Amino acid sequence: MTEEQAVSRWENGETTPNTETLKLLSKLFDVSINTLLGSPRQLICQCCGMPLEDNNISREIDGIFNEEYCKWCYADGEYMYHNMDDLIDVCVNHMANEHFTPDQVRLYMKDMLPKLNYWKQYKNLAGADKFEEFKKQLMNEINDLHIDGMPKVEKLNALVGGYINLEYRLPNGKCVKFLDDAATYLGNQLECEFGGDRCFGIAANMEFILISTYEKDGENPELIVYKKR
Ligand SMILES: [Zn+2]
Repeated sequence: MTEEQAVSRWENGETTPNTETLKLLSKLFDVSINTLLGSPRQLICQCCGMPLEDNNISREIDGIFNEEYCKWCYADGEYMYHNMDDLIDVCVNHMANEHFTPDQVRLYMKDMLPKLNYWKQYKNLAGADKFEEFKKQLMNEINDLHIDGMPKVEKLNALVGGYINLEYRLPNGKCVKFLDDAATYLGNQLECEFGGDRCFGIAANMEFILISTYEKDGENPELIVYKKR
């Protein structure tokens, strides 16, 4: 069946569309199957529990919706969280407010996450070991840079780009950002060994390592290293 045939059958209400037709229509109109069906259920990201709408549903590399996950938990065909504690740390940072204390968020997530499909299946996946290997490798590469005043990196956390995407002024006066707000990176913040107000910030992924320094709340950021891996 062609896309045109699928659309015309849909519009004329001739058939209850089958899964294949729904997939075609979803691709053609760039809306999720759940939305096509009139949103019969509230989709929930099966990794982090976030309610899903068409603007935060993840996609496969070819652009087709993956209605199981949000775009932060599944990006570029990769699952971004391999450790529930990392995800809980990220959620505590983003969800805590005056009505919901960090401890309450932590308790809530600890109770909810194990009920989601991703974490239920995760025990059976081989991904966890491989990811830990990757993190170790990345930390070795970062520590091998021997950056003056930066302590040894012992831990990398999953961080959402939008929260750490500082703008750096280059020697030529241009201001640039290097991260994708919607992507997840591995990183950490470390206090300078020499004391003072400046911190080191690390953001890395499969492609690059970025290290910068900045003052409280990301003020006056300065790029130290941007290195392709
Ligand atoms: Zn998610």
